[in-house]
Amino acid sequence: MSNVGIIGGGPAGIMCALFAAQNPENKIFIFDKNIILNTILPTGGGRCNLAYSEFNFKELAKFYPRGEKFLYSVFSRFSTKDTLDFFNKIGVKTYVQDDLRIFPITDCARDVKTALLKQLEKKNIKKVFENVLKVKKLENGFELATDKGVHKVDKLVIATGGKGNGHKLAEGLGHHITGLKPSLSALVTKEKEFACVSGISLKNISAQVFFNNKKLKIPKNILNGDFLFTHSGISGPLIYKISSYCAYVDFNENVPLKIVLNLVNLEDTEFDEILLNGLKDNAQKDVLNVISKYIPKHLAAVILQRENINTSVKAGQLSKKDREKIVKNLTSLCFNAIKPVSGEEIVTAGGVDLKEVDAKTMGSKLVSDLYFCGEVLDIDGLTGGFNLQNCWSTGYVAGVSLAG
Ligand SMILES: Cc1cc2nc3c(=O)[nH]c(=O)nc-3n(C[C@H](O)[C@H](O)[C@H](O)COP(=O)(O)OP(=O)(O)OC[C@H]3O[C@@H](n4cnc5c(N)ncnc54)[C@H](O)[C@@H]3O)c2cc1C
Repeated sequence: MSNVGIIGGGPAGIMCALFAAQNPENKIFIFDKNIILNTILPTGGGRCNLAYSEFNFKELAKFYPRGEKFLYSVFSRFSTKDTLDFFNKIGVKTYVQDDLRIFPITDCARDVKTALLKQLEKKNIKKVFENVLKVKKLENGFELATDKGVHKVDKLVIATGGKGNGHKLAEGLGHHITGLKPSLSALVTKEKEFACVSGISLKNISAQVFFNNKKLKIPKNILNGDFLFTHSGISGPLIYKISSYCAYVDFNENVPLKIVLNLVNLEDTEFDEILLNGLKDNAQKDVLNVISKYIPKHLAAVILQRENINTSVKAGQLSKKDREKIVKNLTSLCFNAIKPVSGEEIVTAGGVDLKEVDAKTMGSKLVSDLYFCGEVLDIDGLTGGFNLQNCWSTGYVAGVSLAG
């Protein structure tokens, strides 16, 4: 009989517990300072985007700016198909959305939580609602000091996510933690004149990113996506992806990250020709109405205002210089990002150094009987269900190793 302690009852810890419980010799205790699986409730805007419809594990791993190579081995054992089979088995049917993101058919994260909790009950896994403050390695096993007492376990899993104190606990046991940074975040920009169009979104636009006057080499698929204006700057899937790729770029007020957006997805010369024809064909209309054919009207008004162009000037009377300014704004609208929006990041980049973890078992290479899974590791993906996939997969591998 082995006592297995799992610190963290998030998706990774729960997945690990369920598979570790396949060995009846394991007595499993999940320690959580909060309500188990509550971190799953806000996922996918309450719908829980639990996976992504990419069934080739090497292709799937490409969606992880950190952890790609490590995940080859993990995903070769448990990947998208296994996730869908697993959820189907526990009563969560899923569907694939047009953009390949996968959700429960009920579009309800709470249903995913309920189904997982049912499995915990079925397998008689114990929940301990305590905050683990310290971990000590004993000759055999570990001693956990919590806010309520002391516990001894034979094997230990740290699954505390990106924001818990699991990094400190791992460090205390001799592991190294790579620099922690917010990822998948909205960005605060120097430009404030777009605050009044906060909430306006643009579908599938493209971007280029510069730092220190150098264009950053970022894969093309990252530089396309939906975009959102916010009261403090810019957001939406496109910006999340950029924030993920630039998580370790040291941008700030003095050296901002320059993000240049093409709102119409056309070369400037191409768009100039289209606009010129549009203006000619609608010579008697207000210029604002003509530009509103290409971008939302409120945004068009802000752009005209920032360029000191009268919104009610007739299209036929717009000067060449003003037309060029409009073309520049619509094909290369520049934002200077100075920092991520604090505390609103979806994941943490960085974590337990993967060099110190065996991808075949999720076991520590430094400390016997110690395991890791989920976001506490130096693994993070883009938006699209990849971060939960990391939890299901690393949780599964850790659980199966513990089951022996
Ligand atoms: C708003 C939002 C939306 C998201 N949407 C999606 C999505 O749709 N798809 C997707 O793939 N990803 C999404 N993510 C990311 C995803 O939720 C996380 O990557 C995932 O929850 C990480 O799981 P985890 O089990 O590693 O850690 P967590 O879910 O963070 O769970 C860790 C648990 O450990 C507990 N804990 C921490 N330290 C201690 C301690 N010392 N003692 C006791 N307990 C402790 C915490 O209370 C917590 O319950 C979203 C994230 C956010 C914030």
